[in-house]
Amino acid sequence: MARINENYLKLKAGYLFPEISRRVRLFLEANPQAASNVIRCGIGDVTEPLPQAAIQAMKAATDELGERSSFRGYGPEQGYDFLRLAIAQHEYRERGLQISDDEVFVSDGSKCDTANILDIFGSDNRIAISDPVYPVYVDTNVMAGHTGQALEGGGYEGLLYLPCTPENGFIAAAPAEKVDIAYLCFPNNPTGAVASKAQLKAWVDYARANGTILFFDAAYVDYISDPALPRSIYEIEGARECAIEFRSFSKNGGFTGVRCAYTVVPAGLAGTTRGGEKVLLHPLWLRRSTTKFNGVSYPVQRAAQALYSAQGKAQVRALVDYYMGNAKILREAAREAGLKVWGGEHAPYIWIGCPAGLSSWDVFDKMLGEASVVITPGAGFGSNGEGFFRVSAFNSRQNAEEVAKRLKSMKWS
Ligand SMILES: *Cc1c(COP(=O)(O)O)cnc(C)c1O
Repeated sequence: MARINENYLKLKAGYLFPEISRRVRLFLEANPQAASNVIRCGIGDVTEPLPQAAIQAMKAATDELGERSSFRGYGPEQGYDFLRLAIAQHEYRERGLQISDDEVFVSDGSKCDTANILDIFGSDNRIAISDPVYPVYVDTNVMAGHTGQALEGGGYEGLLYLPCTPENGFIAAAPAEKVDIAYLCFPNNPTGAVASKAQLKAWVDYARANGTILFFDAAYVDYISDPALPRSIYEIEGARECAIEFRSFSKNGGFTGVRCAYTVVPAGLAGTTRGGEKVLLHPLWLRRSTTKFNGVSYPVQRAAQALYSAQGKAQVRALVDYYMGNAKILREAAREAGLKVWGGEHAPYIWIGCPAGLSSWDVFDKMLGEASVVITPGAGFGSNGEGFFRVSAFNSRQNAEEVAKRLKSMKWS
């Protein structure tokens, strides 16, 4: 019989979102009349239609594929030149950051990229992950065999967890010990925290001193509302020597269903062999991409490119502003309800402290049972997420206003 990858058996049952779905299903079975009343602020998925610029570009690209003269089959695995150029130009070079077109790898999502990147790294690296955290970073390391068993109090043996708490503003400092890989995500999912330049500089300095590679996930970069805050890790001097950056069109262009993202691997970035020989990462990632991936569809890449037209930029801005308007409404409502509130200023997530005596799954059940609102319990993001819950601003304005009303009318103490 074929042997399985037993690392999968280490994964804790009930990955967050399936468990949320299960509880919502049970609730609706018991309360079928509540079905039309339930508002989902749980999973971080966008709700509003795609920008017109993207739709037009996708339609035009589809028409091209319908003509023999302009038909295209397989494209370059790492993305069409037109999109790599648009990304490097608009996201980086226009902002004074020297990223060349061929350092940009186009993909079908940052979830996949942050998981797949592990392919080019060894299995014996010391890995630091903040807690709470986007669960994908942890689970993909478990699957790859980079951890031991699940621990009693949450988490896995072998990973170094960096607690993110109200005391450190939910931004972990670099650890005292040496790690080989560290995941950073700013603006943060789930806490909404965003690191300052000084905080990122401390991480980059640490990484350069210790030979650490930083995985910098900036999926929410367009939600940063303060121009003084860093948008890219490459704004920090020396980051080209120690950081890979992940970006996605999911949250700014509403591409969660369309699927397009990119990863920046600087040309000079290196790791080492067991014997201590330096090896560049860019050729490894290129090899990995060309071997295991056949690229993002042509219409989708044209749609992503269109987000950088003047029209596209304005439409993306409007979309982000719309969700941030929701975030403000939700943040203020939670505050008025007497809850402790973080986030929602540079991220579409509001991170709320659970009232004394309630766990985050208690709050989940309470919000669902009393207000028919689905939130995400902090415990699903790691043991330090316990005591908090996440409310997503990805919703219609009408729903956000309704959730705000319900939050305020609930009895919290
Ligand atoms: C939504 C999200 C992404 C984007 O994932 P895609 O696969 O590109 O849709 C990446 N990282 C974090 C932390 C996210 O919340």
